[in-house]
Order: sequence, then structure tokens, then C-alpha cells
Amino acid sequence: MMSYFLPPVQMSPIAPQGISAPQAISVDTPRNRVRSAPLLLSAFLLLMCGCQSPLHRVHLDHPSMGTRFQITVFHSDRDHAQAWVRTAWNRVDQIDQACSDWKESSELRQLCRSAPHLKPVVVSTDLLQVMKKALEIARASEGAFDPTVGGLVRLWRRCHRAGRLPRDHEVEKARKGMGIDGIIIDEAASTIQLLREGVAIDLGGIAKGHAVQEVFQLLEQQGIRHLIIDGGGDLVLGDPPPGRRGWRIAIGTSNPQAPSNGTPLKLLIPGRAAVATSGDASRFTEIEGRRYSHIVDPSSGLGIEGPHQVTVISTDGAIADALATAISVLEPQAASDLLQRFPGSAALLVDPRDGSHQVLGEMPLAPNSDGSVVEKGASALYYEKCPPGSVGQ
Ligand code: AMP
Ligand code: MG
Repeated sequence: MMSYFLPPVQMSPIAPQGISAPQAISVDTPRNRVRSAPLLLSAFLLLMCGCQSPLHRVHLDHPSMGTRFQITVFHSDRDHAQAWVRTAWNRVDQIDQACSDWKESSELRQLCRSAPHLKPVVVSTDLLQVMKKALEIARASEGAFDPTVGGLVRLWRRCHRAGRLPRDHEVEKARKGMGIDGIIIDEAASTIQLLREGVAIDLGGIAKGHAVQEVFQLLEQQGIRHLIIDGGGDLVLGDPPPGRRGWRIAIGTSNPQAPSNGTPLKLLIPGRAAVATSGDASRFTEIEGRRYSHIVDPSSGLGIEGPHQVTVISTDGAIADALATAISVLEPQAASDLLQRFPGSAALLVDPRDGSHQVLGEMPLAPNSDGSVVEKGASALYYEKCPPGSVGQ
């Protein structure tokens, strides 16, 4: 659904990181000038060597969390980059094991099975952090994003397979254990206490965003700065490819040539941002002539009606992911109010049928220089429509 463009990159010279210019001499005499010449020459050569070392593009992918993770980095040391991207995959799998609502053996499923808890339960940092952010978005969105929606999500999946709407008594039963007031988190003690029996926590709307954010931090700590991490529509962008003004992100459908799928939008994002898209392009069901998404409106217990597509740009992967899910449920005005509570966040609401769109908040996008830039509305949205079929070229 979302792809990013990496047009041919001109490798521009990059000075070695963290090395300041050599201070060869303090007194400028002819004799000193001669003596210092070899020193300056070697410093010059050193810099030239640094300049000439090419930046390799390393692209690796990995299936995890029910999707395909992809990392693209530009780095002078290919082996270093590859080794750390592989380490990143272990990190993604670790987060999956903590937060998955699909895996019976996950820490989250075990926690839910053991509820209600008479005493707080010590949990991993990943589970704690994701739950903390999930509750933050749940409160801010007044329950549009609700991590305790798991019972309804499972019911909705069953109905999707059966091609029917859920019955009232089924919805009522699936709501058992719902409510974030039944969750107590103690960050200092690293514990979670679930007060309700039958609570089914689903972190599917936030955990991938956490994973891409964590991986970003891991790689950046290793000096890998020009990178993009894609967790199946949840992206974190580092510095853009060398010599580029930003990352060109295509927000569209899996098949832009199908008439019903509309035309993707291309955004040029300067970098250092999280970008998450929620949509029903590939996950929807049609029942009695109406199209429903896999995202459930907790107030009705039903999938939201589509088609819909929301892209959020924010400063943190997990927050962007959860905001995109929440905004999918909310009306635009409520979505605007929600975004204002998260500085640096903005949303693009797209009608995937025709690419028409609405911007909420300020999108941190770079203008294109080739005249194809169009500014829309009061917000600074710059976009260009991709020619149909151009995705990935
Ligand atoms: P996303 O694709 O990030 O929008 O996440 C969708 C997933 O979030 C679904 O597959 C469910 O696992 C979960 N989910 C569905 N509805 C909600 C909701 N209202 N609040 C929180 N999570 C939800
Ligand atoms: Mg999400």
C-alpha cells in the first residue's frame, strides 16, 4: 500500500563523521609552512579517502509481525550495515514475541490469559512502553483507539470469514473485559495489572510502529543515519539519501492501475519523521453491499465503513501508528483536536478511489523543485500525482 521511491542517487562527498579539521600549525612562518606541508598533505589525502569511500545502498527484508519489514540504508561500510540490519531483525522478532495478539505464546497473550491479577505482573520494557503509549492515545482519542478492543476484533474477523454482521448478543459478549480503566501500569516497577477477567488486549494498531522506531534508534546508534525502515506501512525515516532533499513516499494502493484504487500521492518528506498509514485497501470485507474495514469502531463494535486511508506524520513511530488507527475511526474535527495534542503530528486523509484528500495540521513536507509542486489549502501540503503504474519505478 505504501512504497517509497529511491531514484538514482548521486553519491556526494561526505566528510568523515566526528573528525574536525586538523590544526597543524599555530605559528605561520615559512619554515613551519614547509614542515607542516606533509602533515597537511596527509590530512588532505585522508579527507580525500573519506570523500571517495562510496556509500553502499543496503536493502534487506524480513517477515515478522504478520507483514514484511524492509530496511534500506546508505552507508560506507556495507558489512557493518548488513550486520546491524540483521541485528535489527532480531529486535523486531523480540517485540513481536512481547506484543503479538496472534501468537499464543506471546507475553501479551500470557498476560491476558492470567487476568484478573491480584498483584501487578512484571513485564518486558517493550510491552510496558507499547501499553503506556497505547493508553495515552486511548485517553487522548476518547476511546477511538482502544487496546482492549481485542474481543471485538476477533468477533469481527469471524464475521468477516462468515460474510455476515455480528449479532447484538455477540457484540455484548465480545465487550467483556473491555475498558482501559481495567489496566494499571506502574512504569517505575515495570508492571502491568489487568483487573478484568476476559480482557483481550490487541496492540496490532501500535506495535509495528514501536518496532520501526526501536530499530531506527538501534541503527542510528551505530552511525547509520541515511535510512528508511518500513514495517508494512509504518515507516521511520532517517536522514535522506545523500544528495537528496528528502524521501519520496508514495501513498497509494497495492494496485494503482485498478480503476477503483485511484492514484497514489507522492510526498517528499525531508526525513527524521515517522509516517504511518492505516487503510482498508487490502483488508476489508463487504457485507450486504457495504464495505467494512479491519479497524473496529469500539463504540459500535463494527468495522468502520470505507474505503478509507489515513496517513499520519509524527515524531515517534508508535504514536504515528496509533494516531493513524485512531483517526480512521474519528470524524475530521475530532481528528484535528486529537492531533493538536501531539505536537509535530499531522494527517492526510485520502479517498483511495480518486486520490482526493484533506490535510489536518501542518505536514512537514519539502517542496519539489521541478514545478510539479502543488500547495493545497491553508496547510503546506506539497504533492505530485504519480502517473498510474509508476509506483516503485
Ligand atoms: P492499523 O493497520 O495500524 O490501523 O491497525 C489495525 C489493527 O489494530 C487491527 O488489525 C486490530 O488488530 C487493531 N484495531 C482495530 N481496531 C482498533 C481500535 N479501534 N483501536 C485499537 N486497535 C484497533
Ligand atoms: Mg496503526
